[in-house]
Amino acid sequence: MNKHLDKFPIQSFQNSLIHWFKKEQRDLPWRKDPTPYEVWVSEIMLQQTKVETVIPYYKHFLSKFPTLDTLATAEEQEVLKAWEGLGYYSRARNLQNAVREVVEQYGGSVPDTKEELGNLKGVGPYTQGAILSIAFQKPEPAVDGNVMRVLSRTLLITDDIAKGKTRSLFESIVRELISKNDPSAFNQGLMELGALVCTPKSPSCLLCPVQEHCRAFKEGIQESLPVKSSKKVQAVVNYYVPIVKDDRGRVLIQQRPSTGLLANLWEFPMIPIDTIEKDNMSLWYEAEYGLIITNFQQIESIRHVFSHRIWDLQVGMCRLNGGALDHPSAMFIPLNELETYPFPVSHQKIKKLL
Ligand code: SF4
Repeated sequence: MNKHLDKFPIQSFQNSLIHWFKKEQRDLPWRKDPTPYEVWVSEIMLQQTKVETVIPYYKHFLSKFPTLDTLATAEEQEVLKAWEGLGYYSRARNLQNAVREVVEQYGGSVPDTKEELGNLKGVGPYTQGAILSIAFQKPEPAVDGNVMRVLSRTLLITDDIAKGKTRSLFESIVRELISKNDPSAFNQGLMELGALVCTPKSPSCLLCPVQEHCRAFKEGIQESLPVKSSKKVQAVVNYYVPIVKDDRGRVLIQQRPSTGLLANLWEFPMIPIDTIEKDNMSLWYEAEYGLIITNFQQIESIRHVFSHRIWDLQVGMCRLNGGALDHPSAMFIPLNELETYPFPVSHQKIKKLL
């Protein structure tokens, strides 16, 4: 047995947690007798995204792509459009690729082993555990930041949760701690407890269903756990974003490259401020797009924080003074067609300004 579980009342902890979860769980659309596909979609959407944000996206996505087959055969742009605003777009692309593989390799049934799920794109250890436990009632760990926080406190574990080996430690602990009778309710109970009660700041210990088992609470140190080393500071990248319209009132947009950040999404062309002087903006634009722009007048500044970088966008109107568009992935489109293209959140804000 893992040393952290020595003298820990496993059975009683399971009972308290599952009983509480069954009584207090939030009514969420992916909790209504979900298929493995529905669990999969919800878990991918919930990565790095709040539940309240996910709910409308999940409903819309499932109404557009109700089955594996409908998602497998959809155009990628349609899938990105349904994901528009949710961020981390590689999740959507990986999901679609993996679903296509399930249709081709597994006859359209989501596999129920760790090995097979692990071979699918974008299905990491957490998602594997969530699908196996929630959809197939298999006692597999699904350890994310929430679960590590709850268990750091309950078992008073002081290992740094930013380290990969700490996640492995928690996975091995959950393998022993999980209810074999109801792994789904156990894993979801841990996640729900982390979301509603054992929150990062000011946990509601007085209302906590596992308070009597919580070692950090007994010591009064729950707020100093989990131990997490600080992240690297994100680099700030600055851009000018001139709104360029032609003489028919159409606006210039371009598609991002097919790999890397926000791949294949659409945006208003951006000028990297850090590599050019403001006075050279027109020259840069002409060299890049073949268009001559002048009179940049800033109307808005938009900051967008990614996990590893920050974009500071200075958005402005400008005048198009000639030239001819010469860029492989840019085009002018009428304003009323903007809605048909998927844009990342920062550029949706610019779209609203129009
Ligand atoms: Fe978290 Fe407090 Fe419950 Fe312990 S008692 S698990 S610190 S909410």
